[in-house]
Amino acid sequence: MAVNETPMSDTLKHRFQQVHDRIHQAEQTCQRDGQVQLLAVSKTKPATLVRNAWQLGQRHFGESYLQEALGKIHELADVDGIHWHFIGPVQSNKTRDISSHFDWVHSVDRLKVAQRLNEQRPKCLPPLNVCLQVNISGEATKSGVSLTELPALVQAVATMPRLQLRGLMAIPAPETDPQKQRKPFRLLTQTLKDLNSALGLSMDTLSMGMTDDLEAAIQEGSTVVRIGTALFGARDYSTGNLS
Ligand SMILES: *Cc1c(COP(=O)(O)O)cnc(C)c1O
Repeated sequence: MAVNETPMSDTLKHRFQQVHDRIHQAEQTCQRDGQVQLLAVSKTKPATLVRNAWQLGQRHFGESYLQEALGKIHELADVDGIHWHFIGPVQSNKTRDISSHFDWVHSVDRLKVAQRLNEQRPKCLPPLNVCLQVNISGEATKSGVSLTELPALVQAVATMPRLQLRGLMAIPAPETDPQKQRKPFRLLTQTLKDLNSALGLSMDTLSMGMTDDLEAAIQEGSTVVRIGTALFGARDYSTGNLS
């Protein structure tokens, strides 16, 4: 075994195969072959599992809790070509660590956070890729910018030199009916198109779709699905490092 390899369970291999199959089948139903990227959401899961997923060819990983993520990023510093995406709520006092340890942030939802990430992105790194998180279902308690406030935020972020505005992200209200799941995704896709043409931008990323709705998201134009449970099993919230 090479130095950075660890024994791997057949379960992980099988789950990755299943998720790749689901993505591929969904792409085929709408003639979108090869257009959807898999972001493996490894929050609450140990670094060894991320290493195993890397051995299976996975390169992009999503984390939601900064302290937990920093531990794994440190542990996996020897792993080549691994890309870290921050997908959790961003608190202003966490922006410095986020801007220096991640390649992407999917969950920017207010100006102050964008300004801080822009100011704090280290000069030795390329601009930070960002998606703006949209409260697409208009839920009172959810994070995400409202559709009304989105255009102003897009315009502001598009001018920030140390941020590369890539697109939009959303987590719709839970819905089990696959037909009904499609509606908020359709709205997000249309919103991105409208903003691109109104503001002369070329945002290329729609971060939408999770374990229970990836098919609906892909059929409505997702370019990145964020998958945790289907790859790594149910999350373990007992590890006590989730901040
Ligand atoms: C946890 C999480 C996911 C993964 O959800 P699953 O249903 O387990 O696939 C995706 N996106 C975000 C923002 C998350 O916090």
